[in-house]
Amino acid sequence: MVSFDEFGPEKILEVHDHASGMRGFVVIDNTARGPGKGGIRMMPNVTIDEVFKLARTMTWKCAMADLPFGGAKAGIVADAKKLTPAQKGRIVTEFSKGLKPVCPGLYVSAPDMNMAEPEMEIFARANGSNNACTGKPKSMGGLPHELGSTGYGTYLAAKVGAEHMKLSLKGATVAIEGFGNVGTFAMKFLEEEGAKIVAVSDSKGTLYMKEGIDYAKLMETKQKTGSVVNYGRGNVLPCADIAGIDAEILVTAAIPDLITKANVGKVKARLISEGSNIPMTVEVEEMLRKKGVLIMPDFVANAGGVISSYVEYIGGTEEQMFGMVKEKITKNAKEMLEHSQKSGKSPRESAMEIAVKRVREAMKKRKQ
Ligand code: NAD
Repeated sequence: MVSFDEFGPEKILEVHDHASGMRGFVVIDNTARGPGKGGIRMMPNVTIDEVFKLARTMTWKCAMADLPFGGAKAGIVADAKKLTPAQKGRIVTEFSKGLKPVCPGLYVSAPDMNMAEPEMEIFARANGSNNACTGKPKSMGGLPHELGSTGYGTYLAAKVGAEHMKLSLKGATVAIEGFGNVGTFAMKFLEEEGAKIVAVSDSKGTLYMKEGIDYAKLMETKQKTGSVVNYGRGNVLPCADIAGIDAEILVTAAIPDLITKANVGKVKARLISEGSNIPMTVEVEEMLRKKGVLIMPDFVANAGGVISSYVEYIGGTEEQMFGMVKEKITKNAKEMLEHSQKSGKSPRESAMEIAVKRVREAMKKRKQ
């Protein structure tokens, strides 16, 4: 159920075009800080309730990232697997036309499930404005995730956390869960900082090597063989073992619920930077916090992607993107930890309080 409260949702627009079979909606949660930002997911069973929850999450994420964006999300009810590229393109075109009354003024789109660069190109062209969405092809000013904005931000969050607990990254031992877009860049930047990466996992298993794993060689192994487990040295362990590796820092960059009540006792890390979404429940985070583990929560540590989207939105360059990710993640993560120290609340609760305060202040200003 959509629950209406002081923050929103402000608008829910349902659109339909019988000829193309397009049916969809956008939930614009809150626009006090700027147009609602959030991707479109194309799924046969996508609902307004689900999209509302995601839109609300975007409200907090954009506020915590300190971007002039509110929160929104959209859904197209269709089975992408059953559509030809032409049919899919037509549906995206009609969806974009249907959303014109609110986009790009109150809603700025992006890719989500079953939506990627080609669909964003179609969406922007049908809307008539480049500002209608981010995630566009490079030729249209897009800044692709492949540049590494999210992994870079996850590394920066780890760096701020390490400084806070007076742990030097130089020589610190690190375990990285997932060697995809987020995990590879987090590893690259942590290695450049002098950290020793002792374990990296992917869907085939966990590579563990006490002496340290070399980023360039691991990347070559992954590209040539498809998995980190073929590194040729070190031990290969099951995927799930990454959670309990003997390392000072753990970077999560793959699946939700990596750490549960069942394996929380095995965690040895003193610092966790959450690159993936919901790698553990809030309850499990609290269990770790009581043991003295510092957790940099997902919506702070993986905000590099949405910051990159903002730089694309304002027509910025790759260099500006890296600059803004660095500035915003560092500043916001520090503010969160200071708030946490003063209030005694967890970093997650502290980040939420900061985000809520920022949205409330913007709403107050809008009323004046
Ligand atoms: P990706 O598909 O590029 O990489 C995922 C990696 O995880 C792959 O190496 C895969 O082999 C590995 N993997 C799959 N199952 C695994 C398992 N059981 N154990 C260990 N590794 C496993 O994905 P990504 O873009 O790097 O995203 C990773 C996580 O970060 C996701 O939760 C995603 O929602 C989140 N995230 C990504 C971005 C982004 O910009 N890419 C932004 C915010 C959040």
